[in-house]
Amino acid sequence: TPHVGVLALQGDVREHLAALQAQGAEATTVRRPEELEAVDGLVLPGGESTTIAKLADRFGLLDPLRKAVANGLPVYGSCAGMILLADRLLDAPPDQETIGGLDVTVRRNAFGRQVDSFEADLSLEGLDGGPVHAVFIRAPWVEEAGEAVQVLGRVVGGPADGRIVAVRQGNLVATSFHPELTGDRRVHALFVDVVRAHLAGEAGADAGNEEV
Ligand code: GLN
Repeated sequence: TPHVGVLALQGDVREHLAALQAQGAEATTVRRPEELEAVDGLVLPGGESTTIAKLADRFGLLDPLRKAVANGLPVYGSCAGMILLADRLLDAPPDQETIGGLDVTVRRNAFGRQVDSFEADLSLEGLDGGPVHAVFIRAPWVEEAGEAVQVLGRVVGGPADGRIVAVRQGNLVATSFHPELTGDRRVHALFVDVVRAHLAGEAGADAGNEEV
């Protein structure tokens, strides 16, 4: 059974734990470096990325998280979690730290003040069974993605038409939206598959995190 942690400093931790358990993973909270060492994969939840980054720093987790990513730990970030995985940020405080690892530039609160939250149906690469109902809450988007980044999904239509909102690079997966808030477990299923493949030591599964 894959053991997947959820970084539990702030944000919608419980929803991710439930979604992971529904996929057959053993899911536990991670607040300390020892807890991080025990997991086969990690979810960075939605919430407030500035707060999560500050708490991670204070709890002595920032460097262990960076090392874990560099060592190939599968990590899935949703919304604030996407921001935390980004190598570069726009519209963030100049001192905002990230874990990094994803070769992307992410714009915080990208959809604008007028549209705090919205929902849209998106087709995601690699997910069978039709579009995903995506819930965006003061969401970021990926403004630019490097060569090694696979774009899994974009907004279709409206003012944000074409914006990248789901990506994968090696064992790192990120979405602007919150699949943990809907009953649709396919994004978590995809991530638990990444964790299972990593555990099984599949060729390719371990390849990507460091390449830029
Ligand atoms: N706007 C938040 C941030 O910048 C993200 C919002 C969310 O996770 N729902 O961290």
